[in-house]
Amino acid sequence: MNHTRNEMVAPGPHDATSRAPHGRDGPLLECRGVWKSYTMAGHRVEAVRGVDLRIDAPGFYAVMGQSGSGKSTLLHLLAALDRPDRGEIEVAGRAVHALDERAATQFRRRQIGIVFQQFNLISTLSARENVELPGMLAGEDPDWLTERSRLLLDRLGVGKRADHRPDALSGGEQQRVSIARALLFSPPLVLADEPTGNLDSASSRLLWSLLGEIAAEHQTLVLMVTHEPAAAAHCRAVYVLKDGAVHATFNTEGLDAAGVASRYQHCTG
Ligand code: ADP
Ligand code: MG
Repeated sequence: MNHTRNEMVAPGPHDATSRAPHGRDGPLLECRGVWKSYTMAGHRVEAVRGVDLRIDAPGFYAVMGQSGSGKSTLLHLLAALDRPDRGEIEVAGRAVHALDERAATQFRRRQIGIVFQQFNLISTLSARENVELPGMLAGEDPDWLTERSRLLLDRLGVGKRADHRPDALSGGEQQRVSIARALLFSPPLVLADEPTGNLDSASSRLLWSLLGEIAAEHQTLVLMVTHEPAAAAHCRAVYVLKDGAVHATFNTEGLDAAGVASRYQHCTG
């Protein structure tokens, strides 16, 4: 196949069904002493204050914490949407904190999948076109993109909705399309910031199950910010942020939503 591969990143998928694109040792994700402040109206806000975090294995993980604890800022830093003031971030062996703007764009395109609370689909494009768009921008082979988007939309249960525009889809369907888009290049890391914040409870439960399954099937690290214990109960472990740092970590094995809620209360109380 004839693909454009001029950037210095681990190779993406070459056939539409390929999985586990990053055969390598070492942590999938590591933050060491990461700090980030913002200045707003002359006032300095320390949003992230010394985050240390290491995740070795793919899987579904949760980040919890009160509003303002730095969850979204941390995700922005992981996605190279913003640069830390201090500290180091590695994702699948890449030094994210050191990327220049151009390298960060390439990194985001192929190594990171992002799922937003507001879906962020383009309203004038069909579901299928939304999934394929990052690939079009990256100059991918159109036949590969067609096959890849069909496979992903089918897997997420929205294959029959592929030719509809976002406004003809329910919120849950739109979010499943946005997950398909995030998975286009089989990224080692998928970041989801309160992905079910705009969904009803039935759609939310379906989405949490799907994210857990996808993480296992694609050998991807899915890191989800949530304030819902029922969501975190689908995850392997919870990282609790408080005042911009990882305050506690706990495994969710054997815990239901009530169990997660009580562990979380214990950590933050
Ligand atoms: P969370 O997602 O946990 O609610 P955030 O990471 O959004 O927390 O915010 C952490 C702190 O940093 C908050 O006090 C917030 O107001 C501040 N903050 C976040 N982003 C910005 C920004 N772009 N400019 C100024 N302050 C910001
Ligand atoms: Mg937030």
